[in-house]
Amino acid sequence: MQITTLGTSHGYNTAGNFYTSTLVETENGSFLIDAGCQADTMMIHAGKDAGKIKAIFITHPHTDHMGGIISTMKDIERKSGKTQKYTVYLPEDLEAAIRAWADAIHVGIPNASFVFYKEGVIYDDGALKVEAIQSHHLKINDEYVSYSFVVETEGKRVLFTGDLSCDAHDFPTVSAEKEFDLCVSESTHFKPHHVAEALGKARFKRIIFNHIWDEWRTPEGEAEWLRGLSNVTCPMEFAREGKTYEI
Ligand SMILES: [Zn+2]
Ligand SMILES: [Zn+2]
Repeated sequence: MQITTLGTSHGYNTAGNFYTSTLVETENGSFLIDAGCQADTMMIHAGKDAGKIKAIFITHPHTDHMGGIISTMKDIERKSGKTQKYTVYLPEDLEAAIRAWADAIHVGIPNASFVFYKEGVIYDDGALKVEAIQSHHLKINDEYVSYSFVVETEGKRVLFTGDLSCDAHDFPTVSAEKEFDLCVSESTHFKPHHVAEALGKARFKRIIFNHIWDEWRTPEGEAEWLRGLSNVTCPMEFAREGKTYEI
């Protein structure tokens, strides 16, 4: 499996860093986790074929996680010659809104279907399985949730955290229960000391920090982040736009 971090920024694009979207490539097709940035554009830059995407999994409907979904769907249709059937997995029933917006900006999405998911196994095609785990994320009026995904394919297990709460108390507990070949963790909504205990207990072989807050972008900031996680023994690094990781 190959994982490419197409966009690595948080709720604001910054110079050279764009909203979150991560491509998962397997021998049985490609999958997107979030489509915040213009994932189609970032895939062209990274030399990736949007026409192979079978499903898009949206962690939560914030603009930095699904603002680029229409242009991404357009490119799946176009690059596959309108032959690729694909499904968009959403934690809220936004099908009508997406179809209306696509229609309003003259994008045909005849091959798309939509699934409204909650916690549990949300996808299993026999080759790749995705389980969704709810996190608490932000308080906006009432609680605003996001989801993390456990992806299992080709004998590997990867945890993708969605956006978490501001003290990371909702870091997925499955991280300590099962071994993971990789964790792709957000790194905006909490400080390293909030997550040090959870990452210390986690059975990760490797961690890539994504959805990166500006403070950690500089060499000094990165060093401070890693110092705060000095109890974590597995290799850790910050994601970069368009970088591909072989798992
Ligand atoms: Zn976000
Ligand atoms: Zn968010």
